[in-house]
Amino acid sequence: MRLRSASRPSGRGIPLWVYLSALVLVPTIGVVALTAFLVRSALTEAATATSAEAAVLAVAQLDAARSGVEHEIIPVLSIGVLRDPGAVALTGLPSFLVQAQLADAERALAQAQQVTDAALVAVPAGSVGAEVAERAAAQLAGVRTGASGPQPDLFVTYTQYLAVSDLLMAAQRDAAAAADGDDVSVATDHATHDVELIARLARTASRAIPLFLSTQTTISGNGAALDWRAAWRSYTDARDQMTELAQPALVAAWDDVRTSDALTAVDDVLAAQADDATAAPIPILQVAALVSRNTDRDAALTGLLQTAVGSAQAAAAADHEAADDRRDKILLAALGVLLSATLGAALTGRSISRSLGVLAGQADQVSRGELVEVEGGGPREVRTVSTALGSAVASLRRIQAQSAAVADGDLSSPVLEQPLPGPLGEVVHASVQQIVESVRERERLQFALTHQATHDPLTGLSNRAQARVLVNSALHRAQRAGAMTGLLFVDLDGFKAVNDGFGHAHGDAVLQEVARRLLATVRSGDVVCRLGGDEFVVLVEQVEGERDLVELAERIVAVSARPIDVGADQVWIGASVGVAVARDAGTDADVLFAEADAAAYRAKGHGRGRAEVFDEALRAELSARAELEAAITAALRNGEMQLHYQPVLDVASSRLTGYEALIRWNRPGHGMVPPDSFIPTAEATRLICELDRWVLHEATRQLAQWRAEDPAAADRTLAVNISGRHLAEAGVVDDVLDALAASGFPAELLIVEVTETVLVDDPAAIGNLAVLRSHGVSIAIDDFGTGFTSIGQLRSMPVDTLKIDRSFIASAEAGNRELVALIIRAAHTFGLTVVAEGVEEVDQLELLRADACDLVQGYLLSRPLPAAAVSAFRDGAHAPVA
Ligand code: C2E
Ligand code: CA
Ligand code: CA
Repeated sequence: MRLRSASRPSGRGIPLWVYLSALVLVPTIGVVALTAFLVRSALTEAATATSAEAAVLAVAQLDAARSGVEHEIIPVLSIGVLRDPGAVALTGLPSFLVQAQLADAERALAQAQQVTDAALVAVPAGSVGAEVAERAAAQLAGVRTGASGPQPDLFVTYTQYLAVSDLLMAAQRDAAAAADGDDVSVATDHATHDVELIARLARTASRAIPLFLSTQTTISGNGAALDWRAAWRSYTDARDQMTELAQPALVAAWDDVRTSDALTAVDDVLAAQADDATAAPIPILQVAALVSRNTDRDAALTGLLQTAVGSAQAAAAADHEAADDRRDKILLAALGVLLSATLGAALTGRSISRSLGVLAGQADQVSRGELVEVEGGGPREVRTVSTALGSAVASLRRIQAQSAAVADGDLSSPVLEQPLPGPLGEVVHASVQQIVESVRERERLQFALTHQATHDPLTGLSNRAQARVLVNSALHRAQRAGAMTGLLFVDLDGFKAVNDGFGHAHGDAVLQEVARRLLATVRSGDVVCRLGGDEFVVLVEQVEGERDLVELAERIVAVSARPIDVGADQVWIGASVGVAVARDAGTDADVLFAEADAAAYRAKGHGRGRAEVFDEALRAELSARAELEAAITAALRNGEMQLHYQPVLDVASSRLTGYEALIRWNRPGHGMVPPDSFIPTAEATRLICELDRWVLHEATRQLAQWRAEDPAAADRTLAVNISGRHLAEAGVVDDVLDALAASGFPAELLIVEVTETVLVDDPAAIGNLAVLRSHGVSIAIDDFGTGFTSIGQLRSMPVDTLKIDRSFIASAEAGNRELVALIIRAAHTFGLTVVAEGVEEVDQLELLRADACDLVQGYLLSRPLPAAAVSAFRDGAHAPVA
């Protein structure tokens, strides 16, 4: 089976891998985008952490710078006062002490300037405070130059220093605010908030002292007192806010600073001054001590600030690291996701496309009619499809098996009973069942036909053809086994009388009863067959001896002789049985049949109702007959046959009316053989037909020739004898017409002579005669009186002439004389012409003339003459009619 190529899998359509790739690619792009976003935010966080770190550092540097600037103020003011002789005089200090104080102040200034410069330089370039630090450094340079002049205005110097400090403070606040961004961790947030708190405390702490000191000197105006008290409140607010510190380490460190001597000493002095608006200025020595303590306090606060900055930087660095870490993790996770997605997709795709590929290959094979084993693998859907394909293939296999069983004719195969699934399966199964049913029906029919062809429908026995087959195979078996085979030929006696007397229905009933009796009489294993008519045979295998067969034959004779009830009637028939035995390998079925037949024929000849065994005498008879048949065939071929013509004369006028053609065999070594010696033998076979044909052609040819030679012969008839057997054959009409056509002899002058029995027995022969008559040929009944025809039957017969048998003519009995006269009268009544045969004596002729017989034929007038002699007769050489 090969399906149309259109249904073959084609290369069209989008391949599976494209779908799978798209399936992988879309989420991959999503993962990449998400990763990019996450990495970006991690990078932003890292950048934020970095800038927070820088800002925190800037806070510390700016604070250091601011602290340095503010620490410069006191030494500068001290130096200004100590260099002013009026002011020195006011203090009342001795000159050496003043000099020592001045040296201290100068040293402290140099130290503070160094710290300030270092701090300003350290502010990281590009950080929040870098630009401010640069500006502050420039302003500070101007302030320092002004302060170190010969007559500096201390108030202006002081105010300028404070301006620089304000600048740095503002920058410090900005830096702290920048550090305290949104995108930082809680820890960093807390740490920067702590830095802010401490930076603010340090700022307010260091600002309060110079403002306070300015109230103690002549350099300040009225606003100075208000300024320092505001600064003091800022400081105490900032100190109170220190409770907000988040980091426990800083809380502990702040506790140490808060309770330190430096802080408490400075705060106590300033608190006392702030609470009492009318307090007197503190003495100069106490101022010096305050300044010294303030320096310690600032150092402690700076230390605290540094600790906080360090902690904040660490937190920011941790944030940075965490961000970097997260970025790495995100990248790693994304890479992992991508890799596993790709790998998973590749594996899944491979599994799907491989299983689909296998399935597609199997489906392709199936579509080409190869019913391969379908193996399912891969995902559930593919398995489902392959299971479905598998069951489809199983169905196809079953269909194939059923078709094969039907094709092989194995209709009993259980495979044909197996149902097929689904509506299609039902249809196919139904079709197969129908085919099986019709094949069975055909087999039944064939069996019936075979049975019909091999069996006799009336008795159910094997027919002639089958009998021949059975005898043949029995002979083959016997030949192999070295056994004898017997055949009994059963010919019923008196059956024809029953048929004629009681009708065909009775005849059939008799035959059926005979068949039953035969079957009841034979041994099991013997076969009874009906050859046709009233002839049966019994085949006996494994014959022990001839005696057994004779006994069986006698039993058959006995059972056949018993009366048979047919309806209300009782009939008696009998059987003549011929027995033949095949003793050697040389016997064939035809020979055995012929031998049994010959024996039965002799049994009939010996008085009927008896059995005869085929013996040597019969064998000799049979072989003589066979030899004769061969000789006749050769004679026809060799031109040994001749025709003699016996004249037929009109009784009244003595005129020659025609001839009867009679065959002669000029057999070498035998002389002239009369027809009675070979016609019966020829009639036993189809040889007679050949003889008749030859006679028809030769006689018509001869007569046509005579007619041509002698105008007086123009109306002379030709009588030809045709055998009953030949007349029964379909070809007889053509044989006659062919001869007429070949010779040109007119049909109206031809007379076909047939015997009585033909006209009584054979409907086919009667039909052929009627056809011949319709062509103008006349029909004569030969040897009338020897058969059973009654004169009354003549009326309905297709005949024109009646030939009275010569036994009646030759007879001297008075009864026969009367009979001849009666026949002639009756024949004339029915319009028939009467010919008397065998007229040998003048008396006979006279009587016939007296009886008004039409034509005569006999030795008295002329013997049958060879053709050459006929012309002499024609010329008037025949015996005169009296
Ligand atoms: P049949 O048809 O009755 O022929 C007449 C027979 O009587 C012939 O014998 C003939 O010679 C003989 N016959 C004629 N006149 C007399 C007579 O006055 N006295 C006596 N005793 N006999 C006479 P034949 O020729 O020996 O023929 C014998 C039979 O052979 C024929 O009887 C016919 O039945 C058959 N026969 C002869 N020729 C043919 C033939 O060509 N075809 C066929 N189918 N049968 C033929
Ligand atoms: Ca005749
Ligand atoms: Ca005759």
